Amino acid sequence: SKFVYFFGKDVTDGKASMRDLLGGKGAGLAEMANLGIPVPPGFTITTEVCVLYLEGKKYSEEVLKQVEEAIDKLETLNNKKLGDPEDPLLVSVRSGARVSMPGMMDTVLNLGLTDKSVLGLANKVNDERFAYDCYRRFISMFGDVVLGIDFEKFESLIEDKKKELKVESDTDLDAKALKDLAERFKGVIKLEKGFEFPQDPKVQLQMAIDAVFDSWNNPRAITYRKLNEIDDSWGTAVNVQTMVYGNRGNTSGTGVAFTRNPSTGERKFFGEYLINAQGEDVVAGIRTPDFIDTLGNKIPEAYNQLVDICKKLEAHFKDMQDIEFTIQEGKLYMLQTRTGKRTAAAAVKLATDMVAEGLIDKETAVTRVKAEHIDLLLHPRIDPNAKLEVVAKGLPASPGAAVGKVVFTAEAAEEMAEKGEKTILVRTETSPEDIGGMAAAQGVITVRGGMTSHAAVVGRGMGKPCVVGCGDISIDTKSGLFMVNGHTVKEHDYVTIDGSTGSVIIGKVELIDAEINEDLKKILQWADEIRTLGVRTNADNPADAGLARELGAEGIGLCRTEHMFFGEERIPAVREMIMAEDEKSRRKALKKLLPMQKEDFLGIFRSMEGLPVTIRLLDPPLHEFLPDKEELDAKLRELEASGDSSGKINEVKKVIQRVVSLKEINPMLGHRGCRLGITYPEIYDMQVRAIMEAACELTNEGMKITPEIMIPLVGLVKELAITREEVCKMAEKVMAEKGVKIDYKVGTMIELPRAAIVADQIAQEADFFSFGTNDLTQTTFGFSRDDVSKFVPIYQKAGIIEHDPFAVLDQEGVGEIMKIGISKGRSVKPDLKMGICGEHGGEPRSIHFAYDIGLNYVSCSPYRVPIARLVAAQSTI
Ligand code: PEP
Ligand code: MG
Repeated sequence: SKFVYFFGKDVTDGKASMRDLLGGKGAGLAEMANLGIPVPPGFTITTEVCVLYLEGKKYSEEVLKQVEEAIDKLETLNNKKLGDPEDPLLVSVRSGARVSMPGMMDTVLNLGLTDKSVLGLANKVNDERFAYDCYRRFISMFGDVVLGIDFEKFESLIEDKKKELKVESDTDLDAKALKDLAERFKGVIKLEKGFEFPQDPKVQLQMAIDAVFDSWNNPRAITYRKLNEIDDSWGTAVNVQTMVYGNRGNTSGTGVAFTRNPSTGERKFFGEYLINAQGEDVVAGIRTPDFIDTLGNKIPEAYNQLVDICKKLEAHFKDMQDIEFTIQEGKLYMLQTRTGKRTAAAAVKLATDMVAEGLIDKETAVTRVKAEHIDLLLHPRIDPNAKLEVVAKGLPASPGAAVGKVVFTAEAAEEMAEKGEKTILVRTETSPEDIGGMAAAQGVITVRGGMTSHAAVVGRGMGKPCVVGCGDISIDTKSGLFMVNGHTVKEHDYVTIDGSTGSVIIGKVELIDAEINEDLKKILQWADEIRTLGVRTNADNPADAGLARELGAEGIGLCRTEHMFFGEERIPAVREMIMAEDEKSRRKALKKLLPMQKEDFLGIFRSMEGLPVTIRLLDPPLHEFLPDKEELDAKLRELEASGDSSGKINEVKKVIQRVVSLKEINPMLGHRGCRLGITYPEIYDMQVRAIMEAACELTNEGMKITPEIMIPLVGLVKELAITREEVCKMAEKVMAEKGVKIDYKVGTMIELPRAAIVADQIAQEADFFSFGTNDLTQTTFGFSRDDVSKFVPIYQKAGIIEHDPFAVLDQEGVGEIMKIGISKGRSVKPDLKMGICGEHGGEPRSIHFAYDIGLNYVSCSPYRVPIARLVAAQSTI
């Protein structure tokens, strides 16, 4: 089989599609050669050889033979020989994996120089200084990247030399000095490695090739692969290429460029170059490079050719390219072309421009924009030029950046907001009572909690930047400060958070605003044309619903009604309902809640008119609506101390009793969901009445309203059967009262493993399914969703799990259970509508999965809606 691929004028074996085998660089060079673009000839040793070499640390006869043949060919083509004392062939050796990968060995230049051949080079170019400059660079690069000697060891000798000769810059060193340095560098190698710097170019080449392959397993490369989910088994290719020189005077130079602006996407050639310089000088920042536009004035012919080549490359690859070039004495050579990395803004502009130019179609444009790009574009972000002092990292629970003064209570956040002050709310964890404060703050930090903790869910729902589970923070409320990794941050000190990375930063960082511009709108429109997966939103108030609709939501997939119970004017009625000793007094309290609930539904139905609205009946355990036991105890002590005689003491005692009686060891597995509805049917009665009255009234106004009433936490078919009957009875009753017929549905959440497993039974009683993957993950893993930050990061570090399963759906466990639910459900009702409304509904990998397993829609928080639209389209392409 073929292990070595040649490239060059007239003789090129590879092509762009062989990227897996030739690596990105090798495939790009081959393709350019095929296009007739000037590329210095060379050859690529395949990734396959790397994999074999790394297994056994040796090469087969066949590989060695093919490399030998390629060298011969290269020598013939250049009419020069490696190591020739008269006129040596010099080559560069560079790595090139499938995807560009920092951390691996990068480049060795000028390989082939020896004590003898350096004389030939000097003679040939009639420039002794140039020849020895190349030689000393080569020896130090070889020592550094091939032999692993600290570069500092060479660098310090250069410094010594400059001091000795009393000169400032490397360029002031003459031929004699450079020759002397080359000698000393060889001495360093002898000293460090115990052997002489190799004087046989073929040995040099073999050592360099081995080093490239070995560098695949550098710790840095391994870490990079882990972080970027790159397969360890791919290996890297090696490119051996004829040297060309940008440091041969004023008609020579070297540069890097992008065919368009990678930061804005603007259709304008963008890059930098240096006259009379070698490749690494541009990157190393020794001299400040010039803007590419001015190259036209200096070497016009080469510049014009470069511009033409860029056009050709774009037309061919149909994407923005990132290129490297060298001009040697007026002649242009291309050294690399690859797809250019881009910012979020540029990705969107490039994609829409290229459709307008006829370069790509809409499907391709939609795949060119990534979910992360939209995420970044929709939230204010930290100015990339800002200086940051990151003092802690938590979980990136809700993206975007926020700046404000530290406050420790929801009330403080609200008070400050009234004064027009921006705050960051810092809490151990948040509870529903903090919602007002969260809304008033710019952003939220919690010490405890995971990706689906209260703060995270609410934060994402509000589009509020949020860092949760930041365990390094310890709050000292008494002194009004928090400590974090040796820093003390006082109340009202400024902090900045980045909810996209989980960073907490001390001080006030400049932010850049978000916007959905025309280009992004276009991309999303195309996504809508392409996708078949529906996108709904999780929203529980008219403002969020309206916002989500503007962002493209096609209905509500989850309205959590408990959030409606927390309004300031409602809490008393809610508490009265909970404190009620019998059904009658409970009904009385519920009656007070009815008009308020109805008002909520009127608002939500109006903003979603014409679209389905899934409303989930009350789910959380009742104790969540009562104050904390400690808080109550403190109040009681206070009242007793003040000798209160107004009867308040008894009242508080009663509440304490109720709190104690409602206390559960495992509330998330306790008296919640449909269990509440079955034990206190009057609560669901009130909610259904509110829903149906609102729906009837708006229908009478001529609106089209489609309520979908959803029962939470069903595990047994009878739970659903009983609740459904009760719901339908009330719905029919209200419709009869109002004289209106409404097309309503009653369905259930599938959020317990048992529900999925008996989904054929459950489907008999359900008009739709909605997978609640938060609870389904919690109950499948047995991981408490509110406590995962204690161990999930440790599990990830230890490689026990890859992702937080509350952030990225666990396809092999939870996903498998979902598949059972889907197939069993559809075995009874083939057209049963199914969606997902857990937090995974807005996470790209999970959205792909939702499409693959045949769900009809995903539902996510409003700000994730555009992302879901995009990813839903990408899943079908
Ligand atoms: C779920 O469990 O996935 C769900 C959407 O409901 P909640 O997060 O309100 O428990
Ligand atoms: Mg749930």
